[in-house]
Amino acid sequence: MRAALQLSEAGLKVAVLSKVFPTRSHTVAAQGGIAASLGNVTEDNWHWHMYDTVKGSDYLGDQDAIEFMCRQAPGVVYELEHFGMPFDRLENGKIYQRPFGGQSQHFGGAQAARSCAVADRTGHAMLHTLYQRNVSVNTQFFVEWLGLDLIRDQQGEVLGVTALEMETGAVMILQARATLLATGGAGQIFEASTNAFINTGDGLGMVARSGIPLEDMEFWQFHPTGVYGAGVLISEAVRGEGGYLLNAAGERFMERYAPNAKDLASRDVVSRALTTEIRQGRGCGPDGDHMLLKLDHLGAEVIKSRLPGIREIAMKFAHVDPIVAPIPVVPTAHYMMGGIPTNYHGQVVAPYKTGPEEVVPGLYAVGECACVSVHGANRLGTNSLLDIVVFGRAAGNQIIEDLHKNNHHKPLPLDAAEYTLARLTRLETQRDGEDVAQTGAALRKTMQNYCGVFRFPDVLKQGVEKINEVAACVRQTEIRDKSRVFNTARIEALELDNLIEVAIATMVSAEARLESRGAHAREDFPERDDRKWLKHSLYFGQDQRLDYKPVRLKPISVESFPPKARTY
Ligand SMILES: Cc1cc2nc3c(=O)[nH]c(=O)nc-3n(C[C@H](O)[C@H](O)[C@H](O)COP(=O)(O)OP(=O)(O)OC[C@H]3O[C@@H](n4cnc5c(N)ncnc54)[C@H](O)[C@@H]3O)c2cc1C
Repeated sequence: MRAALQLSEAGLKVAVLSKVFPTRSHTVAAQGGIAASLGNVTEDNWHWHMYDTVKGSDYLGDQDAIEFMCRQAPGVVYELEHFGMPFDRLENGKIYQRPFGGQSQHFGGAQAARSCAVADRTGHAMLHTLYQRNVSVNTQFFVEWLGLDLIRDQQGEVLGVTALEMETGAVMILQARATLLATGGAGQIFEASTNAFINTGDGLGMVARSGIPLEDMEFWQFHPTGVYGAGVLISEAVRGEGGYLLNAAGERFMERYAPNAKDLASRDVVSRALTTEIRQGRGCGPDGDHMLLKLDHLGAEVIKSRLPGIREIAMKFAHVDPIVAPIPVVPTAHYMMGGIPTNYHGQVVAPYKTGPEEVVPGLYAVGECACVSVHGANRLGTNSLLDIVVFGRAAGNQIIEDLHKNNHHKPLPLDAAEYTLARLTRLETQRDGEDVAQTGAALRKTMQNYCGVFRFPDVLKQGVEKINEVAACVRQTEIRDKSRVFNTARIEALELDNLIEVAIATMVSAEARLESRGAHAREDFPERDDRKWLKHSLYFGQDQRLDYKPVRLKPISVESFPPKARTY
């Protein structure tokens, strides 16, 4: 929507397709905030933000893109404020900011407070603000339309997409001079996930099926605090406001794993600490399988004003009121650091004649589906809401520039819809096929059990075999209900085609990377290995092969932050 706004304001004709009403996108669930070095609460500047992001990424992030994002952050936050986003305020009227994990301690030991928040409903406020701005400039929305496949011509240029209108079941071609994917995450490949049911990695599936690789798919962030038994997110904002984790002995164990940052170390570090405590027998509850998040000491006032949504979630899903009792939590799949390879202008790039990053003409990607890569091997909390607006805006600007050069529609190939129609015909005519729900459950179970917080060599190897078995079932799914109007069975089957691309790319890339970096933690290679592995993975789904490309260590204008040991 941020990109669409840029285009509509420039007078271009924009069609926004969404499989749900736009304000129900997963961004609506974002709780904690959006990072920007405004320095309203503690001293701060963009260069520190950049350093924290590079370090947080375990040095896998591309430093040119990280510089670009951190420098733009204050500007895009003020712009959102001027659009009408109702940020929380300080006494002096400035935007309220809270500390979050991985934000540096440059200031005499105090944690930087960098996350701008609207209570614990920041994404909700952002999404509604951007939707309303788009309505005011007449962006055209196609609501409950499912994008299916990219249309590419002989030269590889992207000329639009095929899509299914859910209400009628009709399949259409949308021809476009520029196509931008902003399809969000794919957390539905895991059994325990904070992600919405719609997060099925559709953009990644579309890209993978058209021969473009997926980047760094082994890196999945597990959030340390999902509600035990439900997976629903308890924002890091709880720890930012002063909450902390306890094990069964009532010990504040993060002091042992991250003596300085403690509970506000980065998410990969906290998730591993939690999992280690549980595995070593210090978990809480009758099964010793979770930890407790204590926040009652913050007082009813702070909890009710700063964390009202968290309190509601705790009461509904864990049956505890955090004003009086701690919340039971476990790590849960949360965010995909990898995705569709792009540069920091939002252009999709892939290895071709000119090198590893040749622009794919006509195709752009931003947000969680894209890998710019600003998050590298581990994303810092509140950097994603930032990523989506910074690169949404940048991609909008790039498209405007590109369309000046390219002001005619190219002719569509005669077989533009053939591939999609063949997929649909296969699904309609399948006999004695596999059940979609069961196959989806097998996929999620496989990823959960074979590719979780800690990764073991023989388990990964089996995981690759298992996920390929699931893939064979996905190719033979059958739907019994063939009706056309709002047929959710057909939609789920089509989403499964995307989930499997994401799952295979994740498993194969994880099995191949023989080191531990950021969120990718291998038992057999516990150390980071910059000599061999300071490089991005590229997985080509069509021919099931891996390739690699260098990390962009050179920022745009400042000096590079060379890799060094990462401690919190
Ligand atoms: C519970 C939760 C809390 C979070 N909290 C924070 C936070 O506090 N701060 C932070 O920075 N980050 C947070 N994150 C991460 C962040 O919210 C997401 O990474 C980000 O909002 C993703 O935005 P997006 O625009 O890329 O995708 P989304 O908001 O997921 O939107 C994707 C859009 O694509 C559409 N779409 C998908 N597939 C298709 C298709 N085939 N056809 C048509 N349309 C399609 C969907 O309808 C939707 O409109 C959180 C994530 C979760 C899950």
